[in-house]
Amino acid sequence: MIEYTTRTISVISACICNRCQRRLTPDDLDWQERLSVSYKAGYSSVFGDGNIISLDLCPQCVAEVLGPWLQISDASEPLDQLSN
Ligand SMILES: [Zn+2]
Repeated sequence: MIEYTTRTISVISACICNRCQRRLTPDDLDWQERLSVSYKAGYSSVFGDGNIISLDLCPQCVAEVLGPWLQISDASEPLDQLSN
């Protein structure tokens, strides 16, 4: 016999781009291509010791802001043949 416990969980229901304020939801085609980063700065970090850094960008802003540094490869290419 299996017993169950009721829990309340939180799931992401929307993501608002920090740059353009576009609101994405899981129903949007761009949902999977958004960029979300969150981490804690380490000792002597340029962001300040122990500060939390977070960023959410929609795909268009990722392309506009990070475009020159993005490495975009053909997905049909085997991973071991991708250049660094
Ligand atoms: Zn954006």
